[in-house]
Amino acid sequence: MSPTSPLKRVVIVGAGPAGLSAAVDLAEAGRPVVVLEKDTRYVGGIARTVEYKGYRFDIGGHRFFSKSDEVTERWKQRLGSEFISVRRGSRIFYNGKFFDYPLKAANALFGLGVFTSIACVLSYAKAQVFPIKPEKSFADWVTNRFGKMLFSIFFRTYTEKVWGMPCEQISADWAAQRIKGLSLLNAIWHALVPQRKKSGGPVVKTLIDTFEYPKFGPGQMWDKHRDDVIAAGSRVVMGEDVTAINTNGERVVSVTTRSAAGVVSEWEGEDFIVSMPLQETVLSFNPPLPPEAIAAAKRLQYRDFLTVALMVRKSDLFPDNWIYVHDPSVKLGRIQNFNNWSPHLVPEPGTTCLGLEYFCFEGDGLWSMRDEDLIELGKRELAQLGLVRPEDVFDGAVVRMEKAYPVYGPGYVDDVNIIRAALARFPNVQPVGRNGMHKYNNQDHSMMTAILAAKNLLGGAFDLWNVNTDAEYHEEAKPDAGRQVPRAV
Ligand SMILES: Cc1cc2nc3c(=O)[nH]c(=O)nc-3n(C[C@H](O)[C@H](O)[C@H](O)COP(=O)(O)OP(=O)(O)OC[C@H]3O[C@@H](n4cnc5c(N)ncnc54)[C@H](O)[C@@H]3O)c2cc1C
Repeated sequence: MSPTSPLKRVVIVGAGPAGLSAAVDLAEAGRPVVVLEKDTRYVGGIARTVEYKGYRFDIGGHRFFSKSDEVTERWKQRLGSEFISVRRGSRIFYNGKFFDYPLKAANALFGLGVFTSIACVLSYAKAQVFPIKPEKSFADWVTNRFGKMLFSIFFRTYTEKVWGMPCEQISADWAAQRIKGLSLLNAIWHALVPQRKKSGGPVVKTLIDTFEYPKFGPGQMWDKHRDDVIAAGSRVVMGEDVTAINTNGERVVSVTTRSAAGVVSEWEGEDFIVSMPLQETVLSFNPPLPPEAIAAAKRLQYRDFLTVALMVRKSDLFPDNWIYVHDPSVKLGRIQNFNNWSPHLVPEPGTTCLGLEYFCFEGDGLWSMRDEDLIELGKRELAQLGLVRPEDVFDGAVVRMEKAYPVYGPGYVDDVNIIRAALARFPNVQPVGRNGMHKYNNQDHSMMTAILAAKNLLGGAFDLWNVNTDAEYHEEAKPDAGRQVPRAV
């Protein structure tokens, strides 16, 4: 059999960071691959850069930061001088005012005004004298450390917008992990005493103040990967939605796709790397996986996300990369100012591209709204917040991203374990990436799982489930709490 025969090739499902990282390594090592991507236009998955009339914007806003030298080296190797270094600026918008984020106690208390500040201090004192016991929910945990008032202003609304559930129903352990080490007293200490940078100390990913960014957005990285895969003689085929993973009972033998035009095709291969959502992977098996794996897959949950990009005939609207909108009177969760990520994202001087982010569930009211109505909603909410006048918005576009967040719902660890056991019966298929492994992680983690999947096909023996949140591989599975997401109480 010739090495380029379809039967020897590796079939990769999904051209996101995971799929393309595996593809480029294999193709450049001389192992032919075909990458099947359901999107008709974009590679990069959630880390794509969307282009609309010359304006470019991300799904979210993708910082390139990793504690893994291997990942950082790869980024440099592919894009090198195309990276720009961006100073991070982010604030919270509440009640018509901006507050620093990460929170600074002095700034927060002065910004709230005398009466609210006094109320905050009193409610903090009350929480110290009469803490909620036992501390079950996110609401209990934060209230005990900051008081009810600061909890409602700075924690409740945004958390509920992102996760779509009340803070009383989110378990306390999530807060303990996400906001650990933070209390009002130590926040005041940090605000009053200038902090010296510790060399060699741990870097907290969410708080870094400078980050790398490809000048044309993260999609530039994934376009380059696609081009390199093709340059190495392999294929990236767009508009092919994988609908079935066909097995002979012992091995996966092919996948079936449906193209955007409705044409059904079958793609044979020797090995398969799959980055589509784990739920869909399981439900695509033909013949089906055991009923317990199917039931586990159906229990996996996701949070969806939509971006309303608005083009504004003004520049210098605000200096932040993004603003968290804590105001409960609007549905809007976060605003990205893409001019401040990179000036190369905006084609026309004197204009701005804003990304208004709405967290939702596929099929709910927001998700199902018509694009025109979402653009109107975005304009209305920006005006209501006093940030942009509707007449200054001259164009808009909407992008819906299904399954943007894998949710760690009740029992999800057991469900993923059931699925792993069922998939392990097929040694030539490797699930990789964020949704592919149901891990709420960044590009670096997704890439590392795929890099190791490729190494496995070139003679390695890595357990992809042993890659931790920071994209580090541990020989033995270390207890890695992972990047936490809320669990129901
Ligand atoms: C709002 C937001 C902000 C983020 N910010 C950052 C950040 O600042 N920095 C960072 O590093 N990471 C960030 N991330 C995370 C990052 O986007 C992901 O970690 C990364 O995109 C995951 O890569 P992946 O290849 O595993 O999956 P994906 O990006 O989901 O790619 C999977 C690909 O598979 C395709 N696919 C799915 N099903 C099929 C099918 N049936 N057939 C064929 N193709 C299919 C999809 O179309 C997609 O192209 C953010 C995520 C979100 C939601």
